[in-house]
Amino acid sequence: MDTEQLTQKILDGDRRALARAITLVESGREDHRAKAGELLSGLAKHKRQSLRIGLSGTPGVGKSTFIESFGMMLTGLGLRVAVLAVDPSSARSGGSILGDKTRMERLSRERNAFIRPSPSQSHLGGVARRSREAVALCEAAGFDVVLIETVGVGQSETVVAEMSDLFLLLLAPAGGDELQGVKRGIMEMADLILVNKADGPLKPVATRTCADYAGALRLLRKRPQDPEGFPKALMVSAVEEHGLEQAWEEMQALTAWRKENGHWDRRRADQSCYWFDQEVRQALLARLHTARAQAAMAELSGQVAEGVLTPAAAAQQMLQDHLKG
Ligand code: GDP
Repeated sequence: MDTEQLTQKILDGDRRALARAITLVESGREDHRAKAGELLSGLAKHKRQSLRIGLSGTPGVGKSTFIESFGMMLTGLGLRVAVLAVDPSSARSGGSILGDKTRMERLSRERNAFIRPSPSQSHLGGVARRSREAVALCEAAGFDVVLIETVGVGQSETVVAEMSDLFLLLLAPAGGDELQGVKRGIMEMADLILVNKADGPLKPVATRTCADYAGALRLLRKRPQDPEGFPKALMVSAVEEHGLEQAWEEMQALTAWRKENGHWDRRRADQSCYWFDQEVRQALLARLHTARAQAAMAELSGQVAEGVLTPAAAAQQMLQDHLKG
């Protein structure tokens, strides 16, 4: 299939074409990269936008259960939903926390849902680009909502927040000091904190946990992109499917306010610039990873160790010799 045909099929919402295009952006082959680039540039002209919702939480907090229940609720409302994952563990070990195929069984059978496990075996930078491009493909394919899931490991939350319109943090009910376990930086990224498992015997603990986080959120500096009362902490039960409608209403209210006040467009523009910057950095670093450049690094390192060259002089020489086109 040529790029033009693939472009048209994606715009028509053809799922097989979408899956194929995602495989293309995940490929490391030069010719595939070139084709993917052409495809993405063509699709970008159509300026289709989904609501991109990033979702983070530690393993076991209930992310897949939540995505399944929440996704089913959204498809029940007639919305088309795509689910993607950014999994830093697959980047490191080739194993995956999020890629389990048995997850989200009900949602995976829904006609209006598309679930794509995270690509394996790449560095986080590579995973980030592929995920971002997969999100763009889902937007072009006309999905109303794209859910991007990640685990709270390393930089993965920042990566996901930079490709999302809304960022949700899923937490478990917990007593006492647990609140301090959530890094301040992550709290500052969240638009909604959802305390999951607010059911059965866990309900009272969940209520306390939710109140604690609501209090902690009020202490954060107010962000310009938030109306009064945001970010919020809410209770949900993914298993009993409680609180999901309310969470969705809050997401819609926040989205509407941001659109009306120019924050939506500004955030998207800022994100594009962020990824442009990242691409430049990565491409520069890649130049230093060729065999020739690595040999030169080793050689210059030796000279720096012996005191023949200063670190600054050696670095300058390295850049002069290896960063040209
Ligand atoms: P993930 O690792 O974050 O994707 O978490 P899972 O969705 O796999 O859930 C981990 C465990 O928590 C499973 O045993 C779920 O059944 C359970 N769980 C998830 N959501 C809820 C909930 O709302 N209430 C209760 N009681 N258990 C839940």
